[in-house]
Amino acid sequence: MAQRTFSIVKPDAVRKGYTGAILAEIDKAGFQIVSLKKQHISVAQAQGFYAVHKERPFFNDLCAFMASGPLVLMVLEKDNAILDLRKLMGATNPANAEEGTIRKKFAGSIQENAIHGSDAEETAAFEIGYWFAGYELL
Ligand code: GDP
Repeated sequence: MAQRTFSIVKPDAVRKGYTGAILAEIDKAGFQIVSLKKQHISVAQAQGFYAVHKERPFFNDLCAFMASGPLVLMVLEKDNAILDLRKLMGATNPANAEEGTIRKKFAGSIQENAIHGSDAEETAAFEIGYWFAGYELL
């Protein structure tokens, strides 16, 4: 059954000019784009988004990075979208990412790792609702 997930082309990848190439990988893997917008978010917006990580030592660096330049927010749809996007992304640390994954191809470091993808149904629902209004998802 078609499922929705939430994804971000992170500021490092946008800065390096990889947005089109990453969208091409997503398209080739069979995802439909439900909604997409380019935005330069604030540190406060990043802190709200990553609130589950607020006790982690890298939280402040991560939020500053996410607010360091424009990023691309998107809602994607396909059968098994959440797990399939996680597979397409590869491991958080690009040093451990499998050949052919987006992070293997485009990520520079464990923090500046090119792409975000929701890790479960509940997080996908929270993340879609955090960045997109209902009328943007018709
Ligand atoms: P993801 O689901 O693969 O994105 O990974 P997590 O949910 O564990 O972490 C969220 C984001 O925080 C990652 O995508 C990285 O950008 C960043 N991150 C994770 N672990 C580290 C770390 O050990 N150091 C730093 N600097 N950033 C990290």
